[in-house]
Amino acid sequence: MTDTLTDSAATPTPSAPVYTVTQERKIVTAIPGPRSTEMHQRRLAAVSTGVSSALPVYIKKASGAIVVDLDGNQFIDLGAGIGVTTVGHSEASVVAAATGQLNDFVHTLFTITPYEEYVRVAELLAEHTPGSFAKKSVLINSGAEAVENGVKIARKYTGRRAVAVLDHAYHGRTVLTMAMNYKAAPYATGYGPLASDVYHAPSSYPYHDGLTGAEAAARTIAYLEKVIGASDLACLVVEPIQGEGGFMVPAEGYLTLLQEWCTANGVVMIADEIQSGMARTGAYFASEHFGWEPDLVLVAKGIAGGLPLAAVTGRAEILDASQPGGLGGTFGGNPVACAAAIAVFEAIENNNLLAEGQRIEKTLRAGLATLAEKHDIIGDIRGRGAMVAIELVQPGTQQTTKAPNAAAVTAIAAYAAQHGVLLLTAGTYGNVLRFLPSLAVTDALLNDALSVIDDAMATL
Ligand SMILES: *Cc1c(COP(=O)(O)O)cnc(C)c1O
Repeated sequence: MTDTLTDSAATPTPSAPVYTVTQERKIVTAIPGPRSTEMHQRRLAAVSTGVSSALPVYIKKASGAIVVDLDGNQFIDLGAGIGVTTVGHSEASVVAAATGQLNDFVHTLFTITPYEEYVRVAELLAEHTPGSFAKKSVLINSGAEAVENGVKIARKYTGRRAVAVLDHAYHGRTVLTMAMNYKAAPYATGYGPLASDVYHAPSSYPYHDGLTGAEAAARTIAYLEKVIGASDLACLVVEPIQGEGGFMVPAEGYLTLLQEWCTANGVVMIADEIQSGMARTGAYFASEHFGWEPDLVLVAKGIAGGLPLAAVTGRAEILDASQPGGLGGTFGGNPVACAAAIAVFEAIENNNLLAEGQRIEKTLRAGLATLAEKHDIIGDIRGRGAMVAIELVQPGTQQTTKAPNAAAVTAIAAYAAQHGVLLLTAGTYGNVLRFLPSLAVTDALLNDALSVIDDAMATL
């Protein structure tokens, strides 16, 4: 890492990152290679077909922004396990903290005999989530579990039944959350009956609806008032930047107008920051970009550097409406995952990772704008920090019908994989390429990946 400060006496110098894999793209076999192909046969015999993989290359090692497969191929990872290894794969301080905790104790169960690490994570979440009001937390294991608990907590606090979500949302694969997703396929198909009292309200999608924040908020609020009625509505769950939906950034003022309406009507407004949180967007939480202070914040994915941990954090009076024993679970707030999370919060501070997110956005936006001049299928470039996407449309329709081009997305992701770049797709119509790298990715790696995508677009 280069330190351009000439007078660093007052500023702690970030320690140079320790990587166990060279930070470069390197393809040495066909993709997938022979070892991955062999492993894939074993997997097909043993693993449910309900669990799919985007690319059948089996990983042996990962460090920083690079993953290495069984055949020795090195990929630039622009997905970070869907925004989980935000501080980098096997970040040294996170590995050290988790290892230290493994040696001390691995499990006691916080609801039997508690420990400091859980309390410390709750303190750090209270400090770094938006809003200066008193906050409390509950820790669980996964994103969907955070959504489930957020809904439970809001229902208990309000004594109301209904749950509202937005169009294009994604909230998980459990029995409640699959009813909260916009897309039925593949998440809910055949798994019904779905949970009741879940309502899908119109969202803000500026590239397609052309509405201002005020207009989009009025449309959402009209739906909530007419279709549900405020007095029956427990919570409105919103991703500040939608993840699986395709990184839609809502129009200016949209989120704060919804929060004002929720506050005035006794509705708990919940930010699903599972994908957008934990320094992903150049801020601790994406809500900050919009001046939004949610009642509850849901955190998971990036919080513990890859270990499973999730949280519901928010207004103390809402969290404390639940009776003792009503919340929790056997593995929730596991000490090893908590130790890793504490190290992640420290890495965000010590390695200036909020600035790294801003750097990555600048590099991606500049590179993607250049690509958009050459390739007339790039309809929209959007996002914040290390959460940037392009929406692909049929050639020449960027300003007219904006007709989705899923075939181009599929072809580009496949070409990129063959050339050593792991690129995630997204979007309700499968026509979004998302860039969700770890904050350890260098500009050189990003520009190398962009040149592969340029070549891929040229072959279409
Ligand atoms: C991934 C995700 C979830 C679900 O998290 P899991 O850990 O996969 O259960 C929920 N909401 C959003 C926004 C997500 O990106």
